[in-house]
Amino acid sequence: MNVLFVTSECAPFVKTGGLGDVAGSLPQELVAQGVETRVILPKYAVIPQQYKDQMQYIDHIYIKMGWRSQYCGVFELKMNNVTYYFVDNEFYFGANYVYGDIATDIERFAFFDKAVLALLQVVDFWPDIIHANDWQSGMVSVLLRAHYAYDGRYNRIKTLFTIHNLKFQGIYDKAVIADVCELEKSYFTPDKLEFYKDASFMKGALTYSDYITTVSPTYAEEIKTEFYGEKLDGLLRARAGSLKGIVNGIDYNTYNPRTDEMIYETYNSRDFISKKKLNKTALQRELGLVEDDEKFIISMIVRLTSQKGMDLVNCVLEDICFDQNIQIVVLGTGEKKYEDSLRYFDWKYHGRVSAQIRFDNTLAHKLYAASDVTLMPSLFEPCGLNQLIAMRYGTLPIVRETGGLKDTVEPYNEFESTGTGFSFKNYNAHEMLGVIRYAHDIYYNRRKDWNGICRRAMAKDYSWQQSAREYIELYQSLA
Ligand code: ADP
Repeated sequence: MNVLFVTSECAPFVKTGGLGDVAGSLPQELVAQGVETRVILPKYAVIPQQYKDQMQYIDHIYIKMGWRSQYCGVFELKMNNVTYYFVDNEFYFGANYVYGDIATDIERFAFFDKAVLALLQVVDFWPDIIHANDWQSGMVSVLLRAHYAYDGRYNRIKTLFTIHNLKFQGIYDKAVIADVCELEKSYFTPDKLEFYKDASFMKGALTYSDYITTVSPTYAEEIKTEFYGEKLDGLLRARAGSLKGIVNGIDYNTYNPRTDEMIYETYNSRDFISKKKLNKTALQRELGLVEDDEKFIISMIVRLTSQKGMDLVNCVLEDICFDQNIQIVVLGTGEKKYEDSLRYFDWKYHGRVSAQIRFDNTLAHKLYAASDVTLMPSLFEPCGLNQLIAMRYGTLPIVRETGGLKDTVEPYNEFESTGTGFSFKNYNAHEMLGVIRYAHDIYYNRRKDWNGICRRAMAKDYSWQQSAREYIELYQSLA
């Protein structure tokens, strides 16, 4: 079984969010379980030089983009038994960013999707399955049908498309997409690519892929409803027979408190109580918070958007800060209004609130190790990785019961002594506040129970083994 994994980001080369993590770890596990998996992504300028130095130039071709002909090089890098291909073009991927504005990105990723298919002949790799991810690789299944239907090497390939976030769809003017993708008018009808007078990469993928997955069973159900469906719920209901949710795992080598070199003190499930305290005070010192290992640290490592529930946080942050025992650390970047309000709280409650407005992987690891809880009050959450990473580090997630958060965090039940975190149901700031206070109460007044929840959370298995097995079963049923 040969699989080509198509992605717009992949750790450790380039990552802006969960897709980068998934692309970095799932293919390795597929290979470990005997599936020949290769990954293809753009060769962005922002990929660190150390990886660029390891890449080998293979060949180049030219790809027609409207009236232009664009250079398309391919580089190869082998790492951890996975072969990575990087699509090279200075014009599209030479700038200092991963994603730009939609007008630019439509053409960049149309080029990438065309390149993915054209390059199969160059690298002479013929997958049984092309596994594409999110709108940036959404046109692959459309172009496979439109341009390669009569080529025997191509038309036996099956396509799987994974939705990591339905909100971002790659919607743009029909004429532009028709031009850069070289698609006939007949593709731009409401049953195909047309989306409210424009056209959508995501819709193309959902229409033309042989099978669709998303990253948790609950999100797979939610997106069939109007509230979560982002105007594609009708199509998703129509395709319900070819749609399922497979929950993400995390990379157990990268996220391992026993061996993590980025955290202040490594620890395991036996010595975590004392060692987490050392991590806590070291973090407090680094961030200028009041140094006290009995403070209750709530962290968020997050894109600062409404999706992540930042409006709920803003609404009750003042109430949370009312409690002198609570410290809050937010690491994230995103919408200006959220960045500004966090800076304001950092200023007002200096020593108790720390706003770290940046992307910082090392600090993220330190936060997972040093915090008591991580807060994820998402409006919607396809899977969410923070809660999985947090549990591995004995940091308890407080989540809203949606998408993957609902599937992966079992709420604490004080009567049966079960559960691995805390949760609330409605998108309501005071419901969230109530649960934060409840968790805080358990932490201070029932420490033995608290430590029991941490132990259960750390013992949970959210490695990729099981999920990769589910993907392989799916590939086999399609091939
Ligand atoms: P999404 O993909 O919607 O942003 P996920 O929870 O699936 O959310 O994945 C987010 C990933 O990005 C996690 O690994 C998280 O630790 C990381 N991350 C998010 N923001 C930051 C940041 N500012 N600094 C470092 N890591 C971050």
